[in-house]
Amino acid sequence: MKLIIFGPPGSGKGTYSIRLKERYGLEKISTGDIFREEIKSGTVLGKEIEHFLKEGKLVPDEVVIKVVKNKLKNLDNFILDGYPRTVEQAKALDEITKIDAIIRINAHKEILIEKISARRICSNPKCDGNYNIADIRKTVNGVDYLLPPLLPKNDLVCDKCGSPLIQREDDNLKTIEERLKIYENQSRPVLDYYKSKGAGRVPIIDIWMSRPPEITVEKIIESLNQLKIK
Ligand code: AMP
Repeated sequence: MKLIIFGPPGSGKGTYSIRLKERYGLEKISTGDIFREEIKSGTVLGKEIEHFLKEGKLVPDEVVIKVVKNKLKNLDNFILDGYPRTVEQAKALDEITKIDAIIRINAHKEILIEKISARRICSNPKCDGNYNIADIRKTVNGVDYLLPPLLPKNDLVCDKCGSPLIQREDDNLKTIEERLKIYENQSRPVLDYYKSKGAGRVPIIDIWMSRPPEITVEKIIESLNQLKIK
């Protein structure tokens, strides 16, 4: 199974892909996680890309494509989280492999901002612990959102590894606005690219981030079953 999870920052891509990874035994490839780990470890790549993440800007295509090419070597079962984010990256991916489906997550901007501001992640770069302290119950343009917080069992400590929870450096209001703008201008066209591929089209599963992850993930699984993707 070769999947892409696609959506704006804050739409829960990381949370859903962790659950899909566990359900199907997939390799989860998150370019954001890879870059954060490189920065934390102080590698040459980390130093080169640090300012892009800090400012909420995209890392140049040639750098990202090289990293993903390396990761995807000989992999048949994966979910890509945060890649492709530009049409160039999507074209490069076409040359590496054939994707079975794109899971596209939708949410309104005000919900995304609330979610990103309330996100807490595990400080251990080897752990994918991911939490959210926002309690969202409201209707936006006819969409009912019911998103209770995703809290750890013990205050500010990761359930999976016991490390302290932190806020991502780029989860501040200024950077969030920049990332949302970049999503609209550079990443949204990736969907049109996939839609315009005619016979070779990749199926797109459209999902709203309006219910807790366990419900949303079940909807994704139902759609994958309907498409007979295994
Ligand atoms: P994420 O964890 O997916 O929100 O990504 C965090 C940051 O990493 C982004 O704001 C970008 O600076 C960088 N990044 C992650 N994936 C990509 C990508 N596919 N292309 C360019 N930059 C990326």
